[in-house]
Order: sequence, then structure tokens, then C-alpha cells
Amino acid sequence: MSIKAEYIWIDGTKPTPLLRSKTKILAEGQEPPVWGFDGSSTNQAEGHSSDCVLNPVFVCPDPIRGGDSILVLNEVLDIDMKPHVSNTRRATAEVAEKYADQDMWFGMEQEYTFLEDGHPLGWPRGGFPGPQGPYYCGVGADEVYGRDIVEAHLDACIEAGLKISGINAEVMMGQWEFQIGPAGVVEVGDHMWIARWLLYRIAEDFNVAATIDPKPMPGDWNGAGCHTNFSTELMRNDYDACIAAAEVLGKHHTEHISQYGPGVERRLTGMHETAPWTEYSYGVSNRGASVRIPWQVEVDKKGYIEDRRPNANMDPYIVAKLITEVVCEDAAS
Ligand code: ADP
Ligand code: MN
Ligand code: MN
Ligand code: MN
Repeated sequence: MSIKAEYIWIDGTKPTPLLRSKTKILAEGQEPPVWGFDGSSTNQAEGHSSDCVLNPVFVCPDPIRGGDSILVLNEVLDIDMKPHVSNTRRATAEVAEKYADQDMWFGMEQEYTFLEDGHPLGWPRGGFPGPQGPYYCGVGADEVYGRDIVEAHLDACIEAGLKISGINAEVMMGQWEFQIGPAGVVEVGDHMWIARWLLYRIAEDFNVAATIDPKPMPGDWNGAGCHTNFSTELMRNDYDACIAAAEVLGKHHTEHISQYGPGVERRLTGMHETAPWTEYSYGVSNRGASVRIPWQVEVDKKGYIEDRRPNANMDPYIVAKLITEVVCEDAAS
């Protein structure tokens, strides 16, 4: 029997890359081989030398097609087999390898918004829903929209074997969240990109789009973030290491914030459970700080911390790399 392999990759669209995919038929038992695509159609090459290479990096069962079908996540290479400029995974893999002995774990909370004909799902046409308050973790047809899509996505992620750890309805009507983790430095990005692809793909069947725009509705409506929780083995055993990590992130605030997703200044206004993008702060239980130390972590005197700054449209490879680099280097020195 032939096997359907859906080759997925991250394109070169700016400022926020898009996911692309196409199908390859494999013979039974065949390892997914290197493949190619037309980079001039994905903002990854000029027309006169348009070939780019798809190099498989992560394979999982395909919950959409089922059976023996698979999803194949790829990194993009140039034809000389060196990483393409849009390939952010390779540098992350190098950093992960360098600090592997510190056993970094990540848990990322992906917020997103469903859109129907360009409107957030459930919103009255030409108007606004009631103010925020009842929608977060809500129940009932007047408060929650899109649960059927969310449940189908959750099942698909589990069937694909992704490290999905939960879902919830969010503060703005039509907004939701799923969490990936705890997972390794590169693994969290691999699972996140596949989970994003599954979200778009499943919502497609409901004639709904999902967006990771960090501020889909201007005004008094919450933006969408991707809170990034992390811990080294030392942090999981020692509170001082958790504080040290929060301190070192502050030293790199300016350099990091510009790489936490395009439009971060539109979302991190200091309102709607955010800290202003111009300042760094951390605190216990503080959802108005850049970095939160969960109350349980203060009680247990060990655990992890939450970087609340990354936007929903961040690249999980880049964010995991930046945090691993500075936190692990600081702990090693
Ligand atoms: P919040 O209370 O901020 O909404 P969530 O429950 O949505 O938090 O997400 C927390 C994430 O942190 C989950 O993905 C979880 O797996 C992850 N996590 C839990 N413990 C750790 C840890 N020690 N290191 C890294 N991530 C962790
Ligand atoms: Mn959450
Ligand atoms: Mn959230
Ligand atoms: Mn959070």
C-alpha cells in the first residue's frame, strides 16, 4: 500500500511566516526522503533560481487522513544543503545541544482567535459583544464559540502524539488557547508548528480561519500571546535558580523583546494583563509583570517561571533559543 505523507514547512513571508504543505506518496516502509519546492512562490527564492530543499526533521501520524498516513515537518535548506535564511530551527538545535546537560523544558501557551468572514467568531456583525469578563474558561452558547473545532483539534494533537497539555477559552470572545509542553528546546517548536498546522487545517473544514495575530481587535479587547514557561533541571530543584533566571532575562530585555513576535508593542501596552514592552519586571503571581513566578513555585521553593512577553505570532524556535542561551550560560558561569 502507498502512504500519504504531508510535507509541512515554514515559509519566508514577512513579518510573520506562514505554514505551507504538499503531499508526497511514499512506498510502504519508505523513510520520508529529502524533497523540493518552488521557493519563488513562498518568499524563499527569486524566480531565476527558485529551488529550495525540504529536509524532514520530525514525523508523526496524520490524524486528518488516518491509517498509515503521516505528517512530515521539514526544515528548509538551500540547494547546497546549507540552512536557508528562513530556517530558524538549525541555530536552536545547536544551542540545545550545547546546553543539553541542563535539561531545559519548555511549556508554551498558544493563544489564537477564530475568524469567520474576517470577524471574530461569535461577534455580532457590525457591532460588539458584551465587555470581557464571562468568556475566559466560559461555558454556554452565549459565551463560547468554536468549541467543536477546539475539541477536534485537541483530539487530532493527541492522535498525532504531540505533547499537548491542555486547552481553554480565552478572555476575548472567539479567542482560545492550547498548551504544548513540557517538551525539549527543539521539540517544543516542532510540536508547536505541527499543532498550528493542524489548527488551520481542521478549522478549514468548518469554514473558519484561525489567526495568531497578537492584537486582532484594537481597543479594549485582550491581545493574543504565547506565554513561555521554562525550567532547567536546577530550577526544578532550587528556587534561587528560578530567581536567577528571571534576573538574567531582564538583562537581555531589549535584545529579546524585538524577537518575541512582530507587533509586540501593539500587545504589550501595560493593559489587558500585560507589562509594557518598554520595561522589564518580574514578580510572584503577578500577571501584570513581564515574567511571573507561579505562587506554587514560591511555596515549593522550586519549579519553573513564565515569560509572559512572547506574542502569539512568535517563532517557538527563536524564543526557546534566546531563553536557553542566556539562562543556561548564566547558570554555567
Ligand atoms: P497559565 O496558568 O499561565 O494559564 P497553563 O496551564 O496554560 O498556565 O500553561 C502552563 C504550561 O507550563 C503548560 O504547558 C505546562 O506543561 C508547562 N509547565 C509546567 N511545568 C513546567 C516546567 N517545570 N517547566 C516547563 N514548563 C512547565
Ligand atoms: Mn494558560
Ligand atoms: Mn492565556
Ligand atoms: Mn500563562
